[in-house]
Amino acid sequence: MNKEVRAFLLKKLDLVLLLCGALIFAVSSEGRAHPGHEGDTETAAGSSSSLPAPQVSITEDGGYRVIKANGVPNHEIGQFPGPGCPNAASAQSYSLRMPLHPKTNANFTQLKQQSIGVAVNGVPFDPGTAEYWKNDHSSIWHIEALGGSKSLGLDQNHAHVQPNGAYHYHGIPTGLVSALGGTGGKSSLLGYAADGFPIYLQTSGGRSSYQLKVGTRPSGTAGPGGKYDGTYTADYEFVQGSGDLDEANGKTGMTSEYPEGTYYYVATAEFPFYPRMLKGTPDASFQRGPPGGGPGGGGKASGPGGQGGGGKQGGDPIKKFDKDGDGKISMEEAPGPMKTNFAKHDTNGDGFIDADEAKLLPSPRNQGGPGGGAPPPQ
Ligand SMILES: [Zn+2]
Repeated sequence: MNKEVRAFLLKKLDLVLLLCGALIFAVSSEGRAHPGHEGDTETAAGSSSSLPAPQVSITEDGGYRVIKANGVPNHEIGQFPGPGCPNAASAQSYSLRMPLHPKTNANFTQLKQQSIGVAVNGVPFDPGTAEYWKNDHSSIWHIEALGGSKSLGLDQNHAHVQPNGAYHYHGIPTGLVSALGGTGGKSSLLGYAADGFPIYLQTSGGRSSYQLKVGTRPSGTAGPGGKYDGTYTADYEFVQGSGDLDEANGKTGMTSEYPEGTYYYVATAEFPFYPRMLKGTPDASFQRGPPGGGPGGGGKASGPGGQGGGGKQGGDPIKKFDKDGDGKISMEEAPGPMKTNFAKHDTNGDGFIDADEAKLLPSPRNQGGPGGGAPPPQ
């Protein structure tokens, strides 16, 4: 990108942000399609059928970018509760922060049960789901929100609502893109990941390197069977070089906001839509409150870990259990629960849990059975 274009984009972005700010304060909650609903204890007045005005502030403080928001989007949303999503949207109280000058790590940090980032309008990016094949939370067969076969009630913005009322994006945030001035082929800063790196709208240079696996899933007790068609997260595999983005849907390059170059993530129209793992270290402010203790996988994640699973928590399972150093876990090396479900975890049936399959191992916090806490996130 040459300097003039960059300068132009910078100016344009300033304008967009100004407009966006104006919008945020100008948008009234009228005109949004929110039906009255029963049992909504979140709404202060008890009878209000609409959300409050969006609020978001993005400031810099002590080396951090701080985003405070009520999570109410600056665009129209679908009908919630509605078919596939029984939850009403309500204002939240987000106080998130991330380093202004993040660093990349040697290894990716796998994310579980937390937002991967937040948009410039204060709405979280939350691409994963807590829905499983046969409702089996120890299963690797995570249902994809945009997989098509099971409607999770996503609206026109590829978003829906958590049981706690939090509106969140699973795919391209169509309304936000419009509010930012549309696509128009230019790069657009959509928000920030939990590690501080920016997230941009997909441009011609950002193509996912994930592809559908070929063939059929294991069936019987090992899996749901049927063709790999994108219904489940595990239907996809990373194929180096098939696109130009890495495992975290990111790459390094210059952007209008980072003319010196930066690592950045790309929101793609295809799987994985948003990063499912991060190149930097996610800030603890993005962790979703317990049930069940601290963050699961990704031993590199720092911050308060809660009471989680003690010594078994975190870390790379391959490193931990691969006794003969062949880079994968055999049936003999697998510990109790992993051994019991070995066939389930060994998705390609080669008799080993390799690095890719290990990434799909359930985190210890997900193995504790029903805790009677809050309903699982969607
Ligand atoms: Zn969701």
